Amino acid sequence: MKTIALVAHDGKKKALLSWVSAHKAFFADKQLVATGTTGKLVSDALQQDVMCLASGPLGGDQQIGALIAEQKIDWLVFFWDPLSSQPHDPDVKALIRLAVVWNIPVACNQATADFIIHSSLYQQNYQRDVPDFSLHTTRFDRT
Ligand code: PGA
Repeated sequence: MKTIALVAHDGKKKALLSWVSAHKAFFADKQLVATGTTGKLVSDALQQDVMCLASGPLGGDQQIGALIAEQKIDWLVFFWDPLSSQPHDPDVKALIRLAVVWNIPVACNQATADFIIHSSLYQQNYQRDVPDFSLHTTRFDRT
């Protein structure tokens, strides 16, 4: 089962809720993980269980980042607000960075989320390449 992580800043929560509600059937057989407030709102909107982590500014973004590093997330939908500054801006940047590090599809706006949800790769059970960081992790090993 695919696991999708959902995060929306306050200024983008309405947009995310409207987008997930429009794709209720798609999400029915997916496992959903979200930052605290986003998760509660999505769970109410979809009438579906969502694993709610801490609220984003209280560590939720970092928890999702940790799940990405553990290969437990297949897709990140992160509707961040480009018009508001966030108290946890470093966490926002770190979350996007980890998604790129681990080659996770990331949708930061509705258009990208639409492209991914309608991608034929999704139906084909696409297996992303998991980067091999062995050279990095062994760079100080003795020979
Ligand atoms: P929230 O966090 O879902 O708890 O509002 C989102 C965020 O701002 O990262």
